[in-house]
Amino acid sequence: MERKYKDFIIHPIPVLKDNIIWIWVKGDKAVVVDPAISKPVIEWLNNRNLKLISVLQTHHHDDHIGGTQELLKTWPKSSVIAAKADIGRIPFQTQSVIDNETVHLLEQEIKVIEVPGHTRYHICYYLPGSLDLKINPVLFCGDTLFSGGCGRLFEGSALDMFNSLRKIKNLPEYTKIYCAHEYTKANLEWAVQIKPEDIFIKKRLKEVCKLRSKGLITLPTNLSIERKTNLFIRAKTSKELGELRSHKDNWKG
Ligand SMILES: [Zn+2]
Repeated sequence: MERKYKDFIIHPIPVLKDNIIWIWVKGDKAVVVDPAISKPVIEWLNNRNLKLISVLQTHHHDDHIGGTQELLKTWPKSSVIAAKADIGRIPFQTQSVIDNETVHLLEQEIKVIEVPGHTRYHICYYLPGSLDLKINPVLFCGDTLFSGGCGRLFEGSALDMFNSLRKIKNLPEYTKIYCAHEYTKANLEWAVQIKPEDIFIKKRLKEVCKLRSKGLITLPTNLSIERKTNLFIRAKTSKELGELRSHKDNWKG
């Protein structure tokens, strides 16, 4: 399922149990986001004669950085962009970034957005779109936001996550959201238990079940869908978010 934009595509490679590695391609160059493992990425790029120019890391967890150093063996000139504050846990980063910094890759501007909560130094990468050219903005959000859910609070508080999700919530409505895990169905099955009468959640769950039954992924999602169907994005206070997070953490399905 390749998503075509004006002159680039963003392709998913599902790996491990539920990770998705996103590969963003323009011409003969590629950027990889959070490579959990390297082999399928190397094969995919080599089969298409593509050159890796950069790896974007959202945070330090193994299922996001596990393949990066192997990729660097094949493409030693590739940069590795990661949060400067996380240099201790992502020591192979070659371009260290901070909140609000802008970097350029594939002739595209990318804004770094700091989103603590899942981990202390988690960052997202935002590609502003163009209304004139009808190109939707893109967000690579790692484990901060999932379709219908959000990341577990390993190193941050409910308030951290609330503030981080608020930054995402304020992006343009049609921002395409590229999450790092396919958790959508389980998230919505949980949400529908909490809000059994919610027509938006029920409708989205139905669509998601249909896609999954055909073996398709449900991502990317977009902000318009998440504003309607994601209880964490909809939470009005950090207290509400914290309660939802605890409930979800203890939910056995
Ligand atoms: Zn993680």
